[in-house]
Amino acid sequence: MNDLQFSENVCLTCPTADCMMKCQYIRFGSIKEAHGEMMKVVRGEDSRILSECVTCYACEEYCRRGNHPYLLIGERREEKGLLSAPRPIAKQWINLTRMQGKQFICQVNDTALSCCLLPELMVLATGEIFNGVSQAVVFGAEFMCPAVHSHFSKMSVIRERLPLVIENFRKLGVKEVIFMHDECYGTFTSIAPAYCYELPFRPIYYMDFLLERLTQLKDRIKPLNIRAAYQRPCSNRLIPDKLPLVKQILDLIGVELPERTYQGENSLCCGEVFKATSGYQLVADVQGRNISDMLASGADYCVFNCPACQVSLSEKVKKEGLKPVHLVDLCKIAIGEKRREEFL
Ligand code: SF4
Ligand code: SF4
Repeated sequence: MNDLQFSENVCLTCPTADCMMKCQYIRFGSIKEAHGEMMKVVRGEDSRILSECVTCYACEEYCRRGNHPYLLIGERREEKGLLSAPRPIAKQWINLTRMQGKQFICQVNDTALSCCLLPELMVLATGEIFNGVSQAVVFGAEFMCPAVHSHFSKMSVIRERLPLVIENFRKLGVKEVIFMHDECYGTFTSIAPAYCYELPFRPIYYMDFLLERLTQLKDRIKPLNIRAAYQRPCSNRLIPDKLPLVKQILDLIGVELPERTYQGENSLCCGEVFKATSGYQLVADVQGRNISDMLASGADYCVFNCPACQVSLSEKVKKEGLKPVHLVDLCKIAIGEKRREEFL
C-alpha cells in the first residue's frame, strides 16, 4: 500500500493557511493560529482540527499549493484512532462496498462508462446524449472509487482498495473511462496521484463528455429559459478546475445560474454525511441555510450533479417549491427527449 505524498516544507512556507482560514466549520482567530494548528497535523501532533473537521472535502480545493490537507487529516485521525464517525457506521460502509464478484460489465471495448455503485447513474447514462457509450457501462464495488471511506477516516481502506479497482479497470483493457460520478473522477485524477498510483487508462469527466455531445446536438436544443440553483457535491472539491463546466452546460441549454451566497468555493454540501460525522443539528443548519439561499436567489429549479445529494435534498427542496432535477435530465429535456412536467 502506498503512502500519501505530502510536503511538510510546502506547508511550512505557506503564507495564507487557506486550507483552514477558509474552512466553513472550524474557526480560527488569525492566520498564525490556523497555520500553527495545520503544522501540528503535518507533524503528527494533536490538533483540534482532528476532532473538529466534519469531512466536507473543501480544504482540498482551498489549498492552492498542491498539498492534500483533507487526506492528511484523515490519515492522522486514523493513526491516532480518532475516527470521525462511530465505528459501526464506518464498518457498515466498509461491508456495504466490499467487492463480492457481483460486478456488471456490458459491451466494453476501448471505452468504459463507469457508474460506480450508483444504479441511478445507469438510468441517466442512456438516450441520444449517451448514444455509442451507454452499452459500455461498468458498475459495482469492483469499479467503485473508495473515497467515501475518507468521511470515516478509514484511509487504509482507500489505500487497500484503490489499487484493486485500478487493476480491475486494467483487466478490462480499456483505453479510456468516462466517469459519471464526481467522486470517481476526483479519486482517479486527484487521490490516485496523491498516493502515487498510476492509471492504465485515460479518465474522462462526464461533464466534458456532456458538453461535447450537446455541442454536437445543438440544433436539437430548445432553450429552457429557467433559473436554477446548482447543488455542488463535496467530491467536486477534488476537481475544482471542472466546476466551470456546469455554467457552460447550463448556458448552452438556456438555464440561468443566479448569484448565490453559497456558490463556488463557498458552496455548502448536501449535509448527508454530517448525520454520521457530526449529528443532526449540523445537518439541519447546513441544509436550512443552503435551501434558503437557493430560494433567495430566485431559482425555480435545484440542479443536482451527484445522485447522493439528490436523494438527500430532493424532497426538502420540493417542499419549499423548488423543482429537483439532475443535470443530465435537464439536458435531456432541452433536446426534447424528456418532458419537463416529469420533474415538477
Ligand atoms: S495544506 Fe496547503 S493551504 Fe494548508 S498550510 Fe499547507 S500549503 Fe498552506
Ligand atoms: S474537510 Fe472541511 S471541515 Fe475538514 S478541515 Fe477541511 S475544510 Fe474544514
